[in-house]
Amino acid sequence: MKIETDHDRCIGAGQCVLTEPRIFDQDDDGLVRVLTERPRGADETAARTAVFICPAKALSLVEE
Ligand code: SF4
Repeated sequence: MKIETDHDRCIGAGQCVLTEPRIFDQDDDGLVRVLTERPRGADETAARTAVFICPAKALSLVEE
């Protein structure tokens, strides 16, 4: 499973970073930056939570 981001949608709200700082960060413009592109185990669950709470629907998970 891979995390994909849509920078055109990201509004820099930072909910993903606040929820899962081990997986997400923000760049100098406040846009999401993925630290762990292919999360495993507990991180996979955390990534699913972040996708769910993103207010801009800028995150998605792709099964590989
Ligand atoms: S991906 Fe979503 S939650 Fe994360 S910074 Fe962008 S808008 Fe906010």
